[in-house]
Amino acid sequence: MHNQLGIHALVLEREWDTDAAVRAVRRAAAVGYDLVELPMFDPEQLDLVAVRAALDETGLAVNCSLGLPFDADISSANPEIAAAGERLLLGVVHAAGRLRAGLVAGVIHSAMGKHPGPATPANWEAASAGLRRVADAAGSLGMRLGLEVVNRYESNLVNTAATAVALVDAISRENVVVHLDTYHMNIEERGPFEAVGDCGDKLGYVHVGESARGYLGSGSVDLTGLVRALAQAGYTGAITFEAFSRSRVTPALAATLSLWRDVWDDPVDLATHALACLRTALRAAEPGVAGAGPSPAGRAASAPGRGGAAAGEPG
Ligand code: MN
Repeated sequence: MHNQLGIHALVLEREWDTDAAVRAVRRAAAVGYDLVELPMFDPEQLDLVAVRAALDETGLAVNCSLGLPFDADISSANPEIAAAGERLLLGVVHAAGRLRAGLVAGVIHSAMGKHPGPATPANWEAASAGLRRVADAAGSLGMRLGLEVVNRYESNLVNTAATAVALVDAISRENVVVHLDTYHMNIEERGPFEAVGDCGDKLGYVHVGESARGYLGSGSVDLTGLVRALAQAGYTGAITFEAFSRSRVTPALAATLSLWRDVWDDPVDLATHALACLRTALRAAEPGVAGAGPSPAGRAASAPGRGGAAAGEPG
């Protein structure tokens, strides 16, 4: 199995414009990553020709991502706000197509941030109808959409892999996939084997982030378990590293992601360390390595006591 290893560009750059994007692409390639994920909160923001040239120069693959703002929440029960979300996503899909991105991912199913209450059936219906049209536009450009499963403080619509699969099924388009993230899974899921298992064949993208958004291995995320679960599931897609530290992002993003303190300060050292951790975890998950086998016994040994939780969990 060879998974492309990626890095989110905002790990490497604080501000965001064309020069920063070009620098991020070059830095990601210099560290040794295969793929860079470029944030696209505003599809007009970047000189796409210049960014595409940097991608060509380095040979890096590219994905795009965003979180929807509250005034363009595609899941809103207010049709004007939902339509604004759909328009924004269509613009992002068009721009991502010009970058020849394979995937537009992130919190594209609802506004990214703390919601005042649970999602309603109207929110679910608005999101699935809007995303179906965005998926058709993406499909015509050969692109997939990834619905990122995030914790309860960043979406009220999709907090678990099982819910994401239900939304993918409701959208009913082949190019819509589930996007898992270990930072969020660590809050909401039973464990990596269960979350990956819940995705079935719908898993299309994975973010790896530590429990406090810092160096891999500095928190409670089970990276080895995740990578073994991915290997057992036959996941061959990209795995992209994310980390965020208050002083290393804009104040606006720090507020959206509730980044109140610094957990790292040297992005190149952090990125280099993360790539080494990912490669080590992938090697440990290769067939023939002790504990890495694809058998159910391997799963039981890796996740003692968790097997029974699946039956008792609500869908
Ligand atoms: Mn993420």
